[in-house]
Amino acid sequence: MKRIFHFIYILIFILNFSNVQAQLKNNNDRPKLVVGIVVDQMRWDYLYKYYDRYNNNGFKRMLNQGFAVENTQIPYIPTYTAIGHSTIYTGSVPAIHGIAGNNFMIRATQKDMYCTQDDSVKGVGLDPDKFEGKMSPRNLLTTTITDELKLATDFKSKVVGISLKDRGGILPAGHFADAAYWMVDGNWVSSTFYMNDLPGYVRDFNKADLTKKYLDEGWSPMYPLNTYFDRVKDDNPYEGSYVKGEHVRFPINLKDAAAKKNRDVIKSTPFGNTVTLKLAQTVLTFEKMGKNPANVPDFMAISLSSTDYIGHQFAINSAKIEDTYLRLDKDLADFFSFLDNHVGKGNYTVFLTADHGAAHNPQYIADEKGNGGFLYKKELGMALEEQLIKTFGHKKLVYTMTNNQVFLDYKLIDSLQLDDKKIKQYVINFLKKQDGVAFAADMEQLSLSSFPEPIKSMSINGYNYKRSGDIQVILEPQWYGFYKDKTGTTHGAWNPYDSHIPLVFMGWGIRQGNSHAPAYMTDIAPTLAALLHIQEPNGNIGKPLIDVLR
Ligand SMILES: [Zn+2]
Repeated sequence: MKRIFHFIYILIFILNFSNVQAQLKNNNDRPKLVVGIVVDQMRWDYLYKYYDRYNNNGFKRMLNQGFAVENTQIPYIPTYTAIGHSTIYTGSVPAIHGIAGNNFMIRATQKDMYCTQDDSVKGVGLDPDKFEGKMSPRNLLTTTITDELKLATDFKSKVVGISLKDRGGILPAGHFADAAYWMVDGNWVSSTFYMNDLPGYVRDFNKADLTKKYLDEGWSPMYPLNTYFDRVKDDNPYEGSYVKGEHVRFPINLKDAAAKKNRDVIKSTPFGNTVTLKLAQTVLTFEKMGKNPANVPDFMAISLSSTDYIGHQFAINSAKIEDTYLRLDKDLADFFSFLDNHVGKGNYTVFLTADHGAAHNPQYIADEKGNGGFLYKKELGMALEEQLIKTFGHKKLVYTMTNNQVFLDYKLIDSLQLDDKKIKQYVINFLKKQDGVAFAADMEQLSLSSFPEPIKSMSINGYNYKRSGDIQVILEPQWYGFYKDKTGTTHGAWNPYDSHIPLVFMGWGIRQGNSHAPAYMTDIAPTLAALLHIQEPNGNIGKPLIDVLR
């Protein structure tokens, strides 16, 4: 009897081993197309909060046919858009990839820098000297997974980035992209970094003017309003507005709002996402992406920004956010069905993630008897300035406070021959005493600071000496630095509401299933590198998610 067991045991071992051998067989098969979808400000829990109302072919198709990495965390602070997109596509962190905020300060020149600002290029499709067009990925110090695909295929792969936001299209598409498109005043534009003229089909797309169509139609909820989450009603005190002082109630007249403001109002509606995905289809069609004659994969990087604009404006519990996700779900279903026809089911790989999440509106939490609050940046800055003048006898020793960091004015401090260490310590002590501040520390001494893990490592990962501030400020949970307005919401903190993001892969080379094992945003790029058999980006610190890959 024992022998039979032994025999069966050995047989199972051999079968398993040959199975492993089969899995390890190398080949150079690759998907025809990779599509990255970053949903700006999508909290992980939105996958499940609205699950029962999603259709079968959008988010649910990804969850059911693909692989969900349920516990994906952002490994740095501050959790902002430009950094999120850079990290997803580089597998790296601000300390290395250099995108230290949406805006940051260059230490050497003490000049403000917008993440994709590039004064050496001009806008295409708009007034060439307008700031909004003078954009490129030059401030990004490392390669992206899209760059590595270009390098690996002798630049034969086509790479295009598309987003309402310049930074959402430019940073993911990388330095070697064929194109990146973003929206200014309702039109799609690019820069001379990529091209001298918009392609005819993008000009035609602008001429067809979907922006006008959707603004004219207005925004009504997809379903009866009483079927939405409604502990807070539509048009509640936590919601902001399109035009200052004007309530925004369903059904929303967008035409009026756009007339009073500008056509970019489309961005703060679900139709901003619809138009983005329609442009993506147009580019995929006209560029024949996914049908590369050199038989190499193409890569389209899409970022859907409306979710972020709407979240900032109306906070996360609004019917407007719910309706936005239900509409996005429908748009995704249409987009996947387009990809099935264009590239063929199973021939493409798609992943969906987010650049960051979002907190509840602090006032909402306080009204429900929770803890949370507002730290008014302007008032705090003024109080600090007053104390610094009293103590050190000089004005404006603090250059700025942004990204939850304090930037000292070293030029001034050096010229006055003041002791910068003393000033720094004074500011830290001052900040620590403020309501809502949990920690404040010298960014050069983060490893010695008394932050708990993982906040300490998130701070270190987010700290780029040449582009970050001098003092890191960590607020208490559900506290936010605000200017005056108490409506809407924001993000940027270490806390799970900002740092826990969705991550789902689907299609070619992807297993079906899910995992709750800890994973990081930095793991996305190396997983794609493994899938594509190409080198990981040159600043990558992530690890491939081996469960995801077939
Ligand atoms: Zn945002």
